[in-house]
Amino acid sequence: MVNADNLRGEAALAVPDRMRRAVLVRPGEIRIEETPTPKPGPSEVLVRVVAATTCGSDLKAYLRGHPKMPMPGPFGHEYSGIVAASGVGASFEPGQAVMGVHTAPCRACLWCERGQENLCESIMDTMVLGAYAEYLLIPHRIASANLFAKPDDLPFEVACLLEPLSCVAQALELAPPRVGDRCLVIGPGAIGLMFVAGLRRLGVQEIVLAGRNPERLAVGERLGARTASLREADLPNSFDLVIECTGQVEIWERSVSFARRGGTVILFGGCPPGTQARFDTARLHYDQIRLVSPFHFGTAAVRQAREWLLEPGFDLRPLLSGDRPLDELEAAFNDLQAGRGLKFVIRP
Ligand SMILES: [Zn+2]
Ligand SMILES: [Zn+2]
Repeated sequence: MVNADNLRGEAALAVPDRMRRAVLVRPGEIRIEETPTPKPGPSEVLVRVVAATTCGSDLKAYLRGHPKMPMPGPFGHEYSGIVAASGVGASFEPGQAVMGVHTAPCRACLWCERGQENLCESIMDTMVLGAYAEYLLIPHRIASANLFAKPDDLPFEVACLLEPLSCVAQALELAPPRVGDRCLVIGPGAIGLMFVAGLRRLGVQEIVLAGRNPERLAVGERLGARTASLREADLPNSFDLVIECTGQVEIWERSVSFARRGGTVILFGGCPPGTQARFDTARLHYDQIRLVSPFHFGTAAVRQAREWLLEPGFDLRPLLSGDRPLDELEAAFNDLQAGRGLKFVIRP
């Protein structure tokens, strides 16, 4: 059967020859520069970025560098927008609103074949960066696996959250909660809050969100969590599922103490390279605590996350801290570092 979509030639809306984009020059320095607008090759899609959201990993890169984000280099990976041009054979048309993530598995390596697409050997080497820009070129591999039409009733800025929510969906797929579970989420950043939303969506009634930042804890309450400080006195060792979202090794180590016998701990927040953690082996063994530390996401998690985002009752808008123009990107990261805001929406 011939699919007319696959026979379409190159097509484009009016696209300027040059565009503005943010470049992460070195830790602490972002430059806004003008550069030629990329042209889509076969099966590639050029997206005019309507919204791009700031992310904890971008903040890490801005503060101390990131092994997977070369510097100087294009910056930003959470995006949504409108197709500006598409190459021969692409399955999206100019003018179409789209949402997507910045990686896709190869579907041919050992890990892809064993159902561990998130560990695909080339998933990180083929990621696309540069969402803090007027245009973003999506290569064929990602355009064919992890780029989707965006429904009109899903705001662009919420559609950007597909990527971090996919990480959350991947983790909850690896350690699925049961409806009656008591769950503890440590760290009320954007990811911790998305875990609250994901747990709620999966029917979990008892969710405690632990942390310090009152503004962020208040968002957690709106999403359905009870909030607490991280003192052991307030948090007994009775949680079925503990989810660490701070990326601090002391919290990784303490997380185990909150799990019940036979419970599970998701160690989610990545620590700096070389970090070593210590655990009470008696607790792990005799209490049979399961530790999992999920990384990134495969295509199934992206689809799960997209389904959640499209549900009217699944509302992540409380996570968004307002719009910033591209020129204020550095200021937005400085605010985040100071604990102000959760996720800023960059409007290039
Ligand atoms: Zn992200
Ligand atoms: Zn692979």
